[in-house]
Amino acid sequence: MTELISMTVRIKKMGKENNCDVLVIGAGVSGVAAALAAARAGVKTILAEKENFLGGVGYSGLFQYICGLYLNGNTRPKETLNDGIVREIVSHLNKLSPQRTIQKIGQVYVLPYSREDLSSVFNSLCRDEPNLNVMFNATAVSVRKKGKAIVEVGLDQSETLHKITSRIVIECTGDGDVSAMSGADFELSSPAKRQLAGFTVHLKGLKNADETLAIKVPYHLSQAVKMKLLPAYLRFTSFTKGEAANEGFLKLNLGHENSRRHEVVLNNAEKALRYLADKLPALKNACIAGTSLRVMDREGRRICGEYVLAEDDIINARKFNDGVVMNSWPIEIWDKRKGTIYKYVKPGDYYEVPFRCLKAKGIDNLLIAGRCISVTHEALGSTRVMGTCISLGEQAGLAAAFKVNNGKFPFGDIGKPQRTQR
Ligand SMILES: Cc1cc2nc3c(=O)[nH]c(=O)nc-3n(C[C@H](O)[C@H](O)[C@H](O)COP(=O)(O)OP(=O)(O)OC[C@H]3O[C@@H](n4cnc5c(N)ncnc54)[C@H](O)[C@@H]3O)c2cc1C
Repeated sequence: MTELISMTVRIKKMGKENNCDVLVIGAGVSGVAAALAAARAGVKTILAEKENFLGGVGYSGLFQYICGLYLNGNTRPKETLNDGIVREIVSHLNKLSPQRTIQKIGQVYVLPYSREDLSSVFNSLCRDEPNLNVMFNATAVSVRKKGKAIVEVGLDQSETLHKITSRIVIECTGDGDVSAMSGADFELSSPAKRQLAGFTVHLKGLKNADETLAIKVPYHLSQAVKMKLLPAYLRFTSFTKGEAANEGFLKLNLGHENSRRHEVVLNNAEKALRYLADKLPALKNACIAGTSLRVMDREGRRICGEYVLAEDDIINARKFNDGVVMNSWPIEIWDKRKGTIYKYVKPGDYYEVPFRCLKAKGIDNLLIAGRCISVTHEALGSTRVMGTCISLGEQAGLAAAFKVNNGKFPFGDIGKPQRTQR
């Protein structure tokens, strides 16, 4: 018996039926790494993405730093904590913009990047890979299952339905769309507990902007909120300076009861900017030069895997027999009531993400990578950053190719990251 589960879409035409060894859905940072790893291991790979660009929110979110790349501690890291594709990407980024070097912010190390560089690196790596076929504007809308395995995924590309059969499916949609369609179990925090979502506003026209704006902007906005001049959620807005002297970023953080409609959020950002322009001379002539594509979720579905990584594992720097990705990034929770909360891994140490967090429970040929892996609400606060998501994607891609070639998942046999000299 096969079983079809689908999202509601209008499909006009039937497209080609296609098959591959590994189908990666979602071309955010985790999906690109997963697809590259699988294709490089010699298996026929399709990467399906609903937008027309690579990089997901790492591209469309207007972020400034890649987090989760380095071991945190007192020694400035020379290399990324994990090697493989993540190190290769960092090396390409360094070649494109050598002036962007590792920075220490508070207790953590980050790499500044531009989305243009990230896009350029991803595009060239994918273009160079003969076993990889990238499908843009292709949204996964249905899943056909037979027993405990996915046998076909329907991709809607401009209202044409392509039926893709694949031996392994890797879910990299960020929000676990495909796993949910497959009937996999997932956890979703209540709207009150879920981490705040974000919306980035790129400002230009700043004059004499300095580091104190990072304190002054939230201070003035919280005063305005107290006086009921601005919507309450604007009290969580942060500010960071841009690379150019005249640019900066306002980062709005929204609860899940707030409207996510672009025009509503943009309108509130404009109000906030007008208020700030009145209070802060540096922002007097500032204007909005761009925004993130949409409101972006920090937390969505967390797919249940064979193991659920928890806060204790992170804080106690736990290592596993099937540990495949090392991470030293703190638990960073954007809480609706308290704002940002950090809990750190001991300096100089890291925890491991076991392979079991990437294997969807109850579905034989479904792997998960990136933001929607099998973790608790708290643990997601650490695993969701880009550097970590890239390595999670790579490990899922390697494991998928291993299964295609050997008939079973490795569970620690491959993909064990090399311990690098530190
Ligand atoms: C407000 C905010 C600020 C952040 N700041 C930082 C930061 O400064 N540094 C940092 O390192 N991390 C940051 N992060 C975290 C990090 O950017 C993301 O968690 C990470 O990039 C997620 O990568 P991903 O590949 O799992 O998912 P995504 O980047 O979300 O990619 C998923 C992809 O799947 C596609 N997709 C979705 N559904 C379908 C479907 N049905 N069919 C086909 N394609 C589909 C999407 O279009 C998207 O391209 C931030 C996150 C947020 C929300």
